[in-house]
Order: sequence, then structure tokens, then C-alpha cells
Amino acid sequence: MERVQGVLLRGYHGAPTSGTVTIREFNRDERVRRALAGLGKWWGVAIVSVFIPVAHFVLVPSFLAYGGWQFFQRLGTVELATDAHGTCPDCGAEQALDLAARWRAPQPVTCRQCHRGLQLVLPSP
Ligand SMILES: [Zn+2]
Repeated sequence: MERVQGVLLRGYHGAPTSGTVTIREFNRDERVRRALAGLGKWWGVAIVSVFIPVAHFVLVPSFLAYGGWQFFQRLGTVELATDAHGTCPDCGAEQALDLAARWRAPQPVTCRQCHRGLQLVLPSP
């Protein structure tokens, strides 16, 4: 389940420009499956870390904790931004945007070209 959402990019000056974000939606089953996959992967890494002398005192609990964190992150992720493109309103550079993994709007983004902070917002209806 994917949809493309039109968004606006606001800079410090000039008119806001438009962009698109591809959003992947997960239903309940997919969320649970993704969460378990994440947990299994990091707990697998934790088990392998048991065999690393000395470092395992730090690594094993860290990976276990990270796996648990990933599990709840993924369980709560309903919408994931997989791809975002837009034109910077300040310098005009067309680019792929780096977004937070969990989709939300508005959210801050940084232009790759001029490194200015931009605001990604949903267009008002
Ligand atoms: Zn820019």
C-alpha cells in the first residue's frame, strides 16, 4: 500500500515550492511482522556478540535493548516515508529530501544544496 502525497516546502523567503512524498502504509499484520523481524535481527546479533570476549558485557545488553526499541518503533509505525523529492524554495535545487523515517507533517528538512532549514508542510485544502 503506497500513496504519493503532494507537499509544500517553505523557506525563509520566496514562494513555497511543491514536492512529493511517497508514503508506505502498514496494516496491523505488516507492522507486527516488521516489528518481529527487527527484534529477531538485533537479538540474533546479540547472541553472536556473546562470543566476543570482554566486549560482550556491553554489546549483548545494548543489542537486546536496541532490538526492543526497534520492536516498539516498528509496531507503532503506521506510515513510513520511503521517498521524497522537492525543489528548494531558496536556491531552486531539485533534490531528494531526507525525512524522518516515521512520516509526519509538518517536519523540518534541510536543503542539500544551500543547507538551509526548510519546513515541509501539507498543502492546505
Ligand atoms: Zn536550497
